[in-house]
Amino acid sequence: MPSVDISSRIIFGPVISRRFGKSLGIDLSPSRKQCNFDCLYCELAPVKTIASYTDIVPVKIVIEALQKLLEKYKDIDVITITANGEPTLYPYLGELVSEINRFKGNIKTLILSNGSTIDDPKVQDALLGIDMVKLSLDCATQECLKKLDRAHGGIVIHKIKEGMLSFRALYKGVLIIEILFVETINDKAEEIAKLNDFLSLLRPDRIDISTIDRPPAYKVKPLSYEALKKIAGEFDSSLPLHIASRKKTEAKQEHYSDEEILRTLSKRPFSDEDIETLFDLGSRQRLQNMILQGKISIKETNGIKFYGVSQNKP
Ligand code: SF4
Repeated sequence: MPSVDISSRIIFGPVISRRFGKSLGIDLSPSRKQCNFDCLYCELAPVKTIASYTDIVPVKIVIEALQKLLEKYKDIDVITITANGEPTLYPYLGELVSEINRFKGNIKTLILSNGSTIDDPKVQDALLGIDMVKLSLDCATQECLKKLDRAHGGIVIHKIKEGMLSFRALYKGVLIIEILFVETINDKAEEIAKLNDFLSLLRPDRIDISTIDRPPAYKVKPLSYEALKKIAGEFDSSLPLHIASRKKTEAKQEHYSDEEILRTLSKRPFSDEDIETLFDLGSRQRLQNMILQGKISIKETNGIKFYGVSQNKP
């Protein structure tokens, strides 16, 4: 049985996020890191990869800890399932999700997974019961997966891709893909083109691109915000892509004329965060005028507003 200390470490938060609101997190591996990846950029110290959890917290303990905190915080918007490692390796994920769904009411559920197990029907079944599923996909090729995510033996990229496609076909919730870019590893044009091809097929509800924001486990470097912006431009403009990096703070707000706004947004729709980060006050006012004039339209995709050039120009 886990100690009282461990059970109190299972639930963390509340954490306020602009995107999801007030969230309580569940850590399915509270005592140590258990992961089938050993990512170069991981913010946790490196440990040997594993294929399955050996340190397992019973579902009952997780549920009791969660209910206790839900009684304390009555205004929770989302329950985020995560782990010190990979949460889908938790062997009772399906049972846990069913239990949570019994009492969660209007609270949304979200899972943050590295995507490695998505071809497993048991994992897919568990994830079908979750409102929002965020899967990482840093690489489109096996070489990159081996170099960057340093996956446990037997994990192959084509199975991850097949799993994502079959899950997409079944899943009715919000599917988000996250790509974390690391300098000189997965930022090459060839890798990006392959990621683009696959994501154009997968059609997730949102794609977050980011880079290293916290001290990494190994000596790897983040990309600059400028580089992330350039990469964003290499993806098909119809993909709901969003730069989700704290590197945004590096960016300088700039002046955009009406013409520059139209030109920029015709290449790739900008999210509300992109606008706030990159447009100075005058440019934001010009953008608002262009919305009123019908030249720019807003499309809301899962909590994010995307600004693009209107297809039906006035
Ligand atoms: S999947 Fe997450 S927890 Fe596992 S090594 Fe990569 S970054 Fe760390």
